[in-house]
Amino acid sequence: MAEAVYTMGMDVGSTASKCVILKDGSEIVGSAVISAGTGTSGPARAMTQALQMARLDRTQVAVLVATGYGRNAMEEADYRISELSCHARGAWAIFPGVRTVIDIGGQDAKTMAIGESGQLENFMMNDKCAAGTGRFLDVMARVLELEVSQLGEADERSTREVNISSTCTVFAESEVISQLARNTPIPDLVAGIHRSVATRTASLAKRLGVREPVVMTGGVAQNPGVVRALERELGLRIQTDPMAQLVGAYGAALFAWEKKCKA
Ligand code: ADP
Repeated sequence: MAEAVYTMGMDVGSTASKCVILKDGSEIVGSAVISAGTGTSGPARAMTQALQMARLDRTQVAVLVATGYGRNAMEEADYRISELSCHARGAWAIFPGVRTVIDIGGQDAKTMAIGESGQLENFMMNDKCAAGTGRFLDVMARVLELEVSQLGEADERSTREVNISSTCTVFAESEVISQLARNTPIPDLVAGIHRSVATRTASLAKRLGVREPVVMTGGVAQNPGVVRALERELGLRIQTDPMAQLVGAYGAALFAWEKKCKA
């Protein structure tokens, strides 16, 4: 029997480092998410953790593809591929037939139009403003003394959504602080915060044009409150996957497998 081939995808993000190891281009044998991005120990830690999970050492990885905001800093990568292509590739593998991918990460938000055979056709990106990104949610969660992983559940308990009128993160933070001083219930504030992210993302997506099926990827896709708010804004269903934050790394590992096969 031929020896197994292992390929690795490293998604070095602004906020988190993600690693996926594939066996023979199909089975995920190792993965890791470390909440520290480019310029930190995050990438190395994510790689070590994924290798440990797969019970492999680095020399057994045939091809490493780096993606994400910090991919150029990843010296040991064999190839570097944009996160747009990797998210499109990973999303297509999990949801074959997807036509729109919405990726909200720590520092930017992107929407991608996917063609009939899974190719990236077009995209729109907001990387100029923290509003509508994970950063906005991180800032708000801190003010509310919650973890970002608790926002979805808090949103579910909302009975009366509060309108957050400021689009600027700094002003919106002041607005939330003054609402807290007025004893506004936290779930109602969380629902308003999610609506604010959803409104921004929906306008980005509409500028590109939204074709169904729609999939959400990136760390923020793990927040069901944002997913629901965006479904309401767009008036359609959005699919997600528990490995949403790993989709870019998964796409990179799939590209690494294709590079290996062509070599
Ligand atoms: P990047 O690639 O830019 O580093 P990610 O796609 O890894 O970004 O997403 C990071 C963002 O995901 C964080 O800013 C945070 O808001 C959000 N996030 C991370 N984990 C969770 C979670 N468990 N629940 C909700 N949101 C999360």
